[in-house]
Amino acid sequence: MDSSSFPDVESSNSENSSSINTGGGGNTSSTAGTSSSSGSTLSRYENQKRRDWNTFGQYLKNHRPPLSLSRCSGAHVLEFLRYLDQFGKTKVHTPICPFYGHPNPPAPCPCPLRQAWGSLDALIGRLRAAYEENGGKPETNPFGARAVRLYLREVRDLQSKARGISYEKKKRKRPPATTSSEASPPLPPPGEG
Ligand SMILES: [Zn+2]
Repeated sequence: MDSSSFPDVESSNSENSSSINTGGGGNTSSTAGTSSSSGSTLSRYENQKRRDWNTFGQYLKNHRPPLSLSRCSGAHVLEFLRYLDQFGKTKVHTPICPFYGHPNPPAPCPCPLRQAWGSLDALIGRLRAAYEENGGKPETNPFGARAVRLYLREVRDLQSKARGISYEKKKRKRPPATTSSEASPPLPPPGEG
């Protein structure tokens, strides 16, 4: 018998925070920012977009060998997304884990933490917009590359299976059932792609 107490760290299933946490060092004041027309309150989206863009810029700067934005391809974007996984906070169970497919595992397990698919998806959307706002051409936008789209779809599929969560958008409205505490039925197999 194990004790019923377990740390409440990993109960963040529905938490769809779309911000990417890149760990410590949120220190952006070192670079000489010549932001001329700031001051007006930007929307949260715009702020987040700028932060993401800076993060990606830092990533390019630290890249070995050095990588310029103009030479950045979809493959580099995938590299970036995998790099971000080390800062992830979403438990993604491996197929051999007993909690594979459980939305709310009753105990801790050693499966890796990753960036949630929803976060990555939103991140790519923001970076894609930022790229073009910074003078990039849409036809060479690495964030819109097919490989990136395929990767995101793969991550979504994998995480929805591993965590027992459906990321499908709600297509049809269901009549508001009486709030039940029953277990929800298992996911239907993914049909058409
Ligand atoms: Zn696990």
